[in-house]
Amino acid sequence: MENNATNKAESAAPGEFKSAVEGKCPRCRTGNMFEGPLLSFKSKKMYTHCPHCGLKFEKEPGYFYVAMYVSYVFVVAELVTACVATYILTRNMESPWLYLTVAITAAVVMAPFNYRYSRVVLMYWLTPQFRYRPDLYGKPKK
Ligand SMILES: [Zn+2]
Repeated sequence: MENNATNKAESAAPGEFKSAVEGKCPRCRTGNMFEGPLLSFKSKKMYTHCPHCGLKFEKEPGYFYVAMYVSYVFVVAELVTACVATYILTRNMESPWLYLTVAITAAVVMAPFNYRYSRVVLMYWLTPQFRYRPDLYGKPKK
């Protein structure tokens, strides 16, 4: 599929949401943002520049601090979901330990997701400078 260097293949660039879910560079939608698999606990490394088009991901010092706010929203949403789900499943109103355990477990399990997707959301939807450029999509690296 990637070798299909026709005009048709170029116009068939993945949609914005799909590229975001796959952790692709917001400008070329081809290069990966992260070294490891998206939900892995192993490698948290993020490329400094897009391996395909060379976009500098951290556009200014401290840029990724903003991602912490996005991450915070994710965590709150996950904790509320986890605790409501626990209540629905167990109908337990007595034990604070149950909810504490569920909340901590949810926060730990979701950490790789929060870390990566807070940055993805920041770069895709909160940074107008990082626009998609169809001319950079899919062309082999020189
Ligand atoms: Zn790129």
